Amino acid sequence: MTKAEYEVVILGAGPAGLQAAIHVARAKVSVLVLGREYKSSIARAHVENYCCLASVTGEELLKEGRIQAEKSGADFLTEDVIETSPEERWFAIRLESGRELKTRSLVLAMGVSRNRLGLPNEKELLGRGVSYCVDCDAGFYRGERVAVVGGESAAVSGAMTLLFYADEVHLVSEQVMVTETLASQVRQSAITLHEGRRVKEILGQNQVEGLMLDDGSRLDVAGVFIELGAKGAIELASALGVALDSETMKFIVTDKKQATNAPGVYAAGDICGPPWQVAKAVGEGCVAGLEAAKWAKKFR
Ligand SMILES: Cc1cc2nc3c(=O)[nH]c(=O)nc-3n(C[C@H](O)[C@H](O)[C@H](O)COP(=O)(O)OP(=O)(O)OC[C@H]3O[C@@H](n4cnc5c(N)ncnc54)[C@H](O)[C@@H]3O)c2cc1C
Repeated sequence: MTKAEYEVVILGAGPAGLQAAIHVARAKVSVLVLGREYKSSIARAHVENYCCLASVTGEELLKEGRIQAEKSGADFLTEDVIETSPEERWFAIRLESGRELKTRSLVLAMGVSRNRLGLPNEKELLGRGVSYCVDCDAGFYRGERVAVVGGESAAVSGAMTLLFYADEVHLVSEQVMVTETLASQVRQSAITLHEGRRVKEILGQNQVEGLMLDDGSRLDVAGVFIELGAKGAIELASALGVALDSETMKFIVTDKKQATNAPGVYAAGDICGPPWQVAKAVGEGCVAGLEAAKWAKKFR
């Protein structure tokens, strides 16, 4: 049974998040890990370059890491975070199930999202109907017809947000993979769900005019939001006032203690930029966990 308040909450159940959790829990600080192990980049890989384990699968690493973190005292919830906000002396977190939590300190370990559909027109029409960020671009589509592509928390919560702006919202998902609460909210909403469908083509020359789906049906929309995976680093981090690197605006900037510019917020792993390696993620997770625990103890 998880609680409504934790001293530290870790976003991400990959190597960075798990290592951070082990260190926070062993410092006798209450800690919750959010996210899905099977969504970690390493989940389906075979690892041969990680010190002391000459050959191990990503699945084995993640399984052992979770057991170790749980034994140390960490709690886990297999849910994505869809909103974070700073409050006086606390951070508020909203989960995909609608549940709300509070914490003194956050460790951001959400990895990198690889969220391109890889369709021919996708790059050319970026900013001309193609978007990767509902929170950033929803306002441009007031009174329009739009589609969201994806089946996880980012797409589903994004489609719900777009209902406040657009006239018509379509959700194209091969499979809806969110908590039952969020899935039933979508089914009861005005969103038109195209489940089991894939986008075959983005239509339009200079501007998005529609989508062609794999069953041959056409959706006439002015905007398509590609939201594969979970709510991404950029949206969640910017809501906390966390600075991203000035060159790519994709990675979180930290100091040597894995501290971001936002007091009480730490980051570790792929989310902090390359090299994308388990060893780096684990090292940064260790430092972030120790520092987050130290920060949270100040409030006792
Ligand atoms: C095919 C492949 C092979 C690889 N092989 C190797 C290798 O051999 N050796 C090596 O060292 N590295 C390898 N890597 C790189 C390695 O997988 C990553 O460096 C490592 O997994 C990074 O760990 P992380 O914890 O930062 O992120 P990840 O492991 O990607 O974990 C991210 C976590 O964040 C969670 N998450 C995301 N968004 C949210 C949200 N909104 N709310 C809550 N949780 C969220 C996810 O559910 C997931 O649990 C490989 C990567 C790939 C893709």
